[in-house]
Amino acid sequence: MLRTISRLASSPARRNFIRLNSTFVVPRTQKAIVFEKNNGPLLYKTDWPVPTPAADEILVNVKYSGVCHTDLHAWHGDWPLPTKLPLVGGHEGAGVVVARGSAVTNFELGDYAGIKWLNGSCLSCEFCLKGAESSCSDAILTGYTHDGTFQEYATAKAIHAAKIPKQTDLAQIAPILCAGITVYKALKTSTATPGQWVAITGAGGGLGSLAIQYAKAMGLRPIAIDTGAAKAELCKSLGAEVFIDFKATSDLSAEIKQATHGGPHAVIHVAVSEAAIEVSTDYVRPTGTIVLVGMPAGAVARSSVFNHVVKAIDIKGSYVGNREDTVEALDFFSRGLVSSPINIVGLSELASVYEKMEKGEIVGRYVLDTTC
Ligand code: NAD
Ligand code: ZN
Repeated sequence: MLRTISRLASSPARRNFIRLNSTFVVPRTQKAIVFEKNNGPLLYKTDWPVPTPAADEILVNVKYSGVCHTDLHAWHGDWPLPTKLPLVGGHEGAGVVVARGSAVTNFELGDYAGIKWLNGSCLSCEFCLKGAESSCSDAILTGYTHDGTFQEYATAKAIHAAKIPKQTDLAQIAPILCAGITVYKALKTSTATPGQWVAITGAGGGLGSLAIQYAKAMGLRPIAIDTGAAKAELCKSLGAEVFIDFKATSDLSAEIKQATHGGPHAVIHVAVSEAAIEVSTDYVRPTGTIVLVGMPAGAVARSSVFNHVVKAIDIKGSYVGNREDTVEALDFFSRGLVSSPINIVGLSELASVYEKMEKGEIVGRYVLDTTC
């Protein structure tokens, strides 16, 4: 529970605010985007209740939230895992701690904090113990099983929330909290070593544009695969050595093999495309690794067993990152090795962001300003 909650003077104008043992005055209601059923209207509420943090939670005044393709999957309800309903989506939230539960010791009021997809986990199961926290069967998922960051105030388990240094640009760091951590972990999972080629499908989108930069910073040679002139330009400006337009090429596999002198040592799939996965089993270098990150609805990863065995390739899944990956991924950002190619719009624009995302028109990442 909160340490103390004392109401402000009871003048009618102030009745809708609570003071939470701090210099922060937290309103009782706030702006939020809510949907009541999957694919239902995205309702812009101005009177959504501000949640109260549990003993082990912090309450974050979310300043900015990235919009991840996962949020679109959550709204559609197209994965075999039900969302809570009604739901406030969003899981790339960066903001200021304005209240904390009685058991929280790792955050002070006024600290900057990041809310991630993995909001909480049990920390004591077999998977948590070995750092595979996202595989915990009690995992709490922000913007999916727990109300997320498309609101002005959101709660997170303090032990999993990300520490953000003061003076950080909160809009810039927001996409790191899912996209950044996820692609950094996927690159580690690929086991590619400095000097080796890594192909990134979906390279011009939110995860992909960060994957190029993490790959480069890790000494790898990124080859970007996506479509359109704007994405080609972005990918090259971020450090891709080669860009291949999957819609413009007549033989994607041959072009990738030629550009990488025999195929990339690793492939990171963030494209929301089943077809992209199958063709990569042909172009990946013998003994190479394919890492599945993007999760197209109902997709199956197809791989010819003969090819798989004879080329001795590895196909692995990679799901966000643990607390250690979070610290490391944020550190790359803080040291200026990666930056987020963002477009900032108001919370009320979420529906149009989803429309663009659906059509594959987003270059980089959209970030929502929760105040408008
Ligand atoms: P996005 O919409 O920003 O980017 C997807 C990109 O893929 C677009 O640029 C699109 O043009 C490109 N693309 C589509 N088909 C392609 C193809 N055949 N070849 C190459 N590129 C293609 O999406 P995002 O926010 O980057 O998310 C991508 C996926 O990753 C989503 O499915 C999301 O749910 C998933 N995701 C997974 C994890 C995880 O932990 N595994 C974490 C975050 C997001
Ligand atoms: Zn995400």
